This record gives sequence, structure tokens and C-alpha cells, in this order.
Amino acid sequence: MHPTDFTIAGAVAALEEGVISAEELTRAHVAAIEALNPKINALITVTAEHAIEAARASDAKRARGEAGPLEGIPLAIKDLFCTEGVQTTAGSKILDGFIPPYESTVTAQLKRDGAVFLGKANLDEFAMGSSNLTSAYGAVLNPWSRRNDPDARLVPGGSSGGSAAAVAARMVLGATGTDTGGSIRQPAAFCGIAGIKPTYGRCSRFGIVAYASSLDQAGPFARTVEDCAVLLRSMAGHDPKDSTSADRAVPDFAAACTRSVKGLRIGVPKEYHIDGMPAEIEKLWRQGLDWLRDAGAEIVEISLPHAGYALPTYYIVAPAEASSNLARYDGVRFGLRAAEKESDLRDLYERTRAAGFGPEVRRRIMIGTYVLSAGYYDAYYLKAQKVRALIARDFREAWSKVDAILAPATPSAAFAEGEGSDDPVQMYLNDVFTVTANLAGLPGLSVPAGLDPQGLPLGLQVLGRPFDEETVFAVGAAIERAADFKALPGMRAGA
Ligand code: GLN
Repeated sequence: MHPTDFTIAGAVAALEEGVISAEELTRAHVAAIEALNPKINALITVTAEHAIEAARASDAKRARGEAGPLEGIPLAIKDLFCTEGVQTTAGSKILDGFIPPYESTVTAQLKRDGAVFLGKANLDEFAMGSSNLTSAYGAVLNPWSRRNDPDARLVPGGSSGGSAAAVAARMVLGATGTDTGGSIRQPAAFCGIAGIKPTYGRCSRFGIVAYASSLDQAGPFARTVEDCAVLLRSMAGHDPKDSTSADRAVPDFAAACTRSVKGLRIGVPKEYHIDGMPAEIEKLWRQGLDWLRDAGAEIVEISLPHAGYALPTYYIVAPAEASSNLARYDGVRFGLRAAEKESDLRDLYERTRAAGFGPEVRRRIMIGTYVLSAGYYDAYYLKAQKVRALIARDFREAWSKVDAILAPATPSAAFAEGEGSDDPVQMYLNDVFTVTANLAGLPGLSVPAGLDPQGLPLGLQVLGRPFDEETVFAVGAAIERAADFKALPGMRAGA
């Protein structure tokens, strides 16, 4: 077996048995990155030397009997997490050259548990996008390709497109992502891997470049549901440095993956049968429900009456928070500074922000500033907050009838660069099935479940009650077992 084909759980066992060393495992992944990153551009920064050193230290720790739960596991980190001493760009020119003097809590916890970081993963600028095309560091290529059109340049999804592509192409065993409106679940689905956005508050946001603070959540990507569970256990936990992180015990998520789904009630929201949904997505969704029924679950039709308002609500709340969060990039405190000799302060702000932000980020700042402005605040922002409360209430009512909800992850398989990607509204429609979980703060897992007629992966999404990731993992693992998804992308290490 090629070392890049290990699951995380498998690699942990192999390291423990001495079948492979952390240094060998890391070197195999560094070689994969050297071969593939020039083609798919999944990583903005590669930290190969650091990684090999860290892997050696891991081997020494293991030899002393001090191995952590992720000791020696090679990961990629979305370039939205601040990493001490390693450039963090958020996919934006405005942060070019920014070297954080501190480490995000999530990455600090992964390191504490022994993980080895191979690099910083590409993303849509400030995590705004569903295609990775808005990155100032270039597009990421999806390692999968269409059967009948192998040369089409498919997007990996976004915003955590680099993380998902790196895991799918076997450049790393797992990666971190963040999900504000679908940025973990959508790229996971497009790249044929698993990814979970946990409950809002499950992971600390400290040290993650903020997009929309009431929606942002960190989560893992991996090639199996169990591997996501293993990573999440290390990433999660209360952090006094983030007042919105929840003071709750972190359960053994991996143990939940083997739980039976017998007797669980699985909700099917009738509003999710949207117009124009491709037949293969409807078919996969029905298939997923059949699998769960066969495993002993009960399927219950539910209604989420305000689901149709989720997308417009999200595209008011998220830009509003973004416009406020991004006010800090002023040419004084971080990264880029675009000043002329004669610049006054206002001119410095304007030049820096015009040069540093790409078109999508500027659009979001303008929308956000507009919906928050005097005269429009009540009509847009306040109204959106009220609708958000109704969307959350729909779910609370649903949880009295069901234990989890099954839905598609995305309304299509991966699309090609240029296919609607120049139309912002068309791009926003990609998030129709994912934004609700962020608005209501719920956990959502995307599991690869089948292929479309072009041979591209499709994902199913499991939603759960707040802080009930365990049921989400149990249901996701049941789908994974039934789907037995074995297809592989054409572009991968060891192929
Ligand atoms: N596509 C959505 C957006 O552009 C979600 C992005 C995300 O979850 N970070 O806002």
C-alpha cells in the first residue's frame, strides 16, 4: 500500500505498530505535494522542512511512549487559520506577507496532539465563494474530471477548496476548513471526501481570520467519516479566548461512528425538493433514505417552512458581518500598505483597500455596508435577523419529531471554471442546502455517496441537533457503509 493511501485511523495504527515512521509518512506526502501542487494549486505555502523536522520529533515522542492521538499525521491547514511564524493570507493580497505572531486555538490543539502541518491550503478570498476562483493566489483544480470532457477545469468548490482538493489528491491525510455557509460541506461533496461543520461554538474561532463571526465554524476534512471524527476531537473544546466557544465536554466522536441507527427518526424536509434540481441528486437523496431505512431508521417527512428564505437571509447577514470584520484591513495594522508620498490617512485606507481586496470581497463589503446603513438597516439587516430566528425555530420544531435530517449537500456536482462562475447570484445558489445549518448553528456532515453520469462525486448531508455531532456521525457512517464509495479521482498521489 502506498503511504498516501492510509486513512488517519489506519496510519495511527501503522505508526503505533512501527510499520511506518512519521518521517516516512511525511516524506511520502511531501513527494506527493511536489508532484501535484504545481498542477492543482491546493497549497499556497508548503512547509516541507518544518514538517520533516516535526515528523522526526513525533517519532522521538512515540519512542518515549508520549505519542498524542494524532502523532505524526500529515495535515494541511486552511490559510485562514493563523499559524505562528508561517504566512497566513486568507487568500487575499491584502494580507500578503502577514506572518502571525500567534497560533489559532484549533491548530494549536492539533499540534498538541501530534499532527504534522505540511502547508497552508488555498481558499476563496476571506472565505467568500463556492469555487475557490476568488483566491488572489489562483484557482485550485479539482483532482476529479468528467468522463466525457476530461480537459474541463473543474472547481473543487469553496471556500475551503484547497483543503478538500489536497485531501482528495492524497497530498495529506486530512485538513482543516471553516464553514460560514457551506465552505466545508460543499467542497467535500465536490471532491468526493467527508467534511463536517460542527455546532456553532464547538471549536474556538480564536486565531481564525473572521468572515461572519456569528456563522463561522472550523471543522475537518478527511477521506472517511471516522477520520473526521478523530480530527474533530482534537480541534474541539472550550477556549477562554473565544467567548462564543461552548463550555462542553468533547465526546469520543469516533466511537459514535459505530453506533447503530436503528430506531432513529430521519427527517426529510419537503421544502428541499427545489425546482430545477438535477434528477441524479433527487435519486441519490432517495437512495440515501433507503439505505437508512434498511439500517433500521424511520423516515419522516418534515417541513421547514422558512427554508426558502435562507439564502437571501444569509446573503444579508454574512456580508453585514463581513463589512464590519474587514474594516480592520486599513494599511496600518496588517500586510499590504498602498500609500503615496502625499497620502493622508483617508487616501491610505482607500488605496490599500482598493489594491488589496478582490472584486467579490469588495462586493460583499458594499452589500454589507448598504444593509447596515441608516435607512436600510430595518428593511434589510433587522428583517434578516428576524427571518434567521424563524429558520432556527423551524429546526427546533423539527427536533421534536426527528433525530437527524438527510438532505443533498449541493444542488449539482462540481462545475467547470466559467460555468456560471462570473455570475455572483448563480454562485450564491450553490449554497442553497448548506446555509441553513449556519443560520441555525447546527452540525452538518457531508458524506460522499455516489457518482453523477459524468463520474463526478456527489455528497449527502446529515444535519443534527446542536451539540449532537455523535448522532450526525452515526448516521453519516451508516451512509458511508451502505454507499461503499470506492471511486478515486484521476489526479492523486500513487496513481
Ligand atoms: N459560499 C458561501 C459564501 O460565499 C459560503 C462560504 C463559506 O462558508 N465560507 O459566503
